[in-house]
Amino acid sequence: MNSQRNISQLDQLIFDNRFIHELPADRDTINNRRQVIGACYSHVLPTPVAKPQLVAYSREVAELLDLTTEVCESEDFIQVFAGNRLAVGMEPYATCYGGHQFGYWAGQLGDGRAINLGEVINKKGGRWALQLKGAGPTPYSRTADGLAVLRSSVREFLCSEAMHHLGVPTTRALSLMLTGEPVVRDMFYNGNPKAEPGAIVCRVAPSFTRFGNFQILTARRDIELLKKLADYTIRTDFPHLGKPSAEVYISWFAEVCRRTAEMIVHWQRVGFVHGVMNTDNMSILGLTIDYGPYGWLENYDPDWTPNTTDAGEKRYRFGNQPQIAFWNLGQLANAIYPLVEQAEPLQDALAIYADTFEQGWQTMMAGKLGLNTFDPATDEELSKELLNVLQLVETDMTIFYRQLAMISSQDLVSDDALILPLMTAYYVPEQLTSGYKIRLINWLRLYIKRIQQDAISDETRRERMNAVNPNYVLRNYLAQLAIDKAEQGDFAMVNELLELLRHPYDEQPGKEEFAAKRPDWARQRPGCSMLSCSS
Ligand code: AMP
Ligand code: MG
Repeated sequence: MNSQRNISQLDQLIFDNRFIHELPADRDTINNRRQVIGACYSHVLPTPVAKPQLVAYSREVAELLDLTTEVCESEDFIQVFAGNRLAVGMEPYATCYGGHQFGYWAGQLGDGRAINLGEVINKKGGRWALQLKGAGPTPYSRTADGLAVLRSSVREFLCSEAMHHLGVPTTRALSLMLTGEPVVRDMFYNGNPKAEPGAIVCRVAPSFTRFGNFQILTARRDIELLKKLADYTIRTDFPHLGKPSAEVYISWFAEVCRRTAEMIVHWQRVGFVHGVMNTDNMSILGLTIDYGPYGWLENYDPDWTPNTTDAGEKRYRFGNQPQIAFWNLGQLANAIYPLVEQAEPLQDALAIYADTFEQGWQTMMAGKLGLNTFDPATDEELSKELLNVLQLVETDMTIFYRQLAMISSQDLVSDDALILPLMTAYYVPEQLTSGYKIRLINWLRLYIKRIQQDAISDETRRERMNAVNPNYVLRNYLAQLAIDKAEQGDFAMVNELLELLRHPYDEQPGKEEFAAKRPDWARQRPGCSMLSCSS
């Protein structure tokens, strides 16, 4: 290893830290917790850590940053992305934002444990902001410690990369480091604090700006700064919209509505439940951001939420995500109202969310079923009945759609032969009563009629379906098994899942077990079926 050459590679990254150079800074540079007024961010340094160690890195994200394998496996990479050394051009800062948490305005939140390192311009001219999560306190840390534990960092690292490969808009993750320092967490807030290994993820995205970055400024009646941040965002992240004006603010908001709708359609397609869709966790770019107590649907249940903190109201349950995104966009509309001063065009833009979602949902369902197009006359009912059938008994969503692709469009088979391919999707065989089977078979016969109309080969339909219905998702128990091993110092499974989830739509020989149903032991195990916000 030529460490001299490696060091120079990280030091040769080109930084253009536009966010901090074009927007006002907090004048106070002491790292104490405070309300930060009249500024979009505060300068703050990562806290050095004792004994950092690389757990995993993403080769695709490294490529985005023009980093070679050699650099990513160097000691300098560990030092820089654990926050111990600033590479040339890095200017660390934490941003100020607010947000509605669980429906209520929570005031200033901000990057309480995220420290931005700067914005890299890669060789292709792409802009990628780098952010360490868990690198120590900032002025926005409120009563918390600014740290992150290995458990939640493995989950964030793996899931952001998995989502990307599934085709879901998301922030990315470059690296996952252990800090070598313990972090105390009371995982279920029940008086059982425990020391866990500390970790740091380096997240990467074109920008980390959230709805809450705008909301906090409006809440403080700082309209001048609100305009500055909106103009900056349009110039940097939405340059195709042109020079900011009242009309451009409206088309900008309309585009945020569209992008958010598209993101939510993807979540519903793959069975992802974010778990904490507070407005501070909504990206202005329509990226999935802040992987906390998220989860993947195993049995199809629109009422499921992985987040124990939300167990009562289930505000952020799977089936409610489209409505919540709409509500969150309504809060963003309120925040930018002072720039537009007309309610109607903002309401019209909100209607774009509903339309885009509806259209996107139909196209998505047609894709999941392998249809040429979604014909509302027949397919509305067909989809609705399918979603009803899926909820009648515990049915693994991911497996069901993959197996549905195996169904033959020849109507001649017996009922038993017809449902045979689907049997692997069920969790509780006793639930498959004759009444249930009749309903399933009726639906399948309708489906077969419908696909016969399209007159495409089974082969083509299967290919289409398998391109949108994943074979592998980051099943909750798989992430937990990888965490269990990582906590024992064995990072092989984290890396194995990272590799597996690079090709989620493929059949991967030898990896069938990762596509199988959740095993019974995982049904009630913390981390597999229930998660809290503690991370
Ligand atoms: P979240 O629910 O993770 O989106 O976090 C809400 C707010 O709490 C954000 O401002 C976070 O930065 C902050 N936060 C969460 N965990 C910590 C922590 N361990 N230390 C400091 N701030 C935190
Ligand atoms: Mg957050």
